[in-house]
Amino acid sequence: MTGSLFMAFRSLWRGRRAVALAMVAAMLAAALGAGSAGAVSGADPGPDDLLRFFDRLAVTDRTPDGGQQPGWVRKWTGPVAVRLEGQVTDRHIATVREITHRLSILTGIQFYLTDRTGADRATKAGNRLTVRILRHQDMMRIQGGSGPVCTAATFGKGGVLHTGWIEISERYSDCLHHEFMHALGFDNHWSGRHASAAMPSVLALRRSPARVADYSLFDEVAIRLLYDTRLRPGMGRKSALSAARNIVAVRFDFWYASARARTPTDQG
Ligand SMILES: [Zn+2]
Repeated sequence: MTGSLFMAFRSLWRGRRAVALAMVAAMLAAALGAGSAGAVSGADPGPDDLLRFFDRLAVTDRTPDGGQQPGWVRKWTGPVAVRLEGQVTDRHIATVREITHRLSILTGIQFYLTDRTGADRATKAGNRLTVRILRHQDMMRIQGGSGPVCTAATFGKGGVLHTGWIEISERYSDCLHHEFMHALGFDNHWSGRHASAAMPSVLALRRSPARVADYSLFDEVAIRLLYDTRLRPGMGRKSALSAARNIVAVRFDFWYASARARTPTDQG
C-alpha cells in the first residue's frame, strides 16, 4: 500500500518530492479531523470527497444524452489475459506491463500480459482484455473523423466482467492509464465542479486541471474500494456506497499512518 501510495503522490506533485510528504500528511490529517460525517468543502479532500469521487466513477453511469444515472458494481473476479495488438512498440509493452503489475496489486486480480498463443491460467479462466494500438488514420476512420482518439468497452454478466477491449491511436499512448481504469469497471469520467487539481485523476477529461497521466491517490483508493470483496458484482449504487463508506471509515487511519511513516528518501 505504501509504495503505491507514494507512486500516486509522486504523480500528484511531480518534481516536488521534498514537500509531497508534508502535503500528504496535512491532507490526510485534515481529512481525519473532518471525520466521515462532514464533507470538506474548499479545503483538502477528505473521506466524503473520496466517496463522492468513487460514486461518480464507479457506480454512476453516463447516459447517452450526457446525463448521469444510478449504476451498479461491475468488476472482474478472476485472472485476466491482456493481449496487445496492432502497432505495438517496446514502449507500449513496457507501459502495459507496468500498468498490469500495478493493477494486479491494487485489485487482487491477476492481469497477465500474454501473446496470441499464450495458454496460461488467465486464458483458461476465459477473461480477456485486448489492447489495440491503431494507426492514427485508422482510428479516425473508425470514429468518423472527429471521435475520440482512445476508447474502451467491457462486457459481462450480472456485473461480472469477462471481456474488454481498449483501442488507442498510436499518437496517444498516454491514454493507456485512462482506458485501463475504464476497463476495470469505472465507466464514468471525473468532471464537474469537484474535479479540481486538489482531486486529480487519470479519468478527468483531457485538458482538465484534474487530469494526470498516472494513477493518483484517489484513483488507487477507488480501485481498492471497487475490488474489495464487500462490494459484490451487480450490487446497486446505494448498497455499494454504504459498503464503501464502511471500508473508508476503517481504512483511513491505516492510509494516514502509512503515509506518515514514510520519508521522502523511501520513495525509491
Ligand atoms: Zn474516457
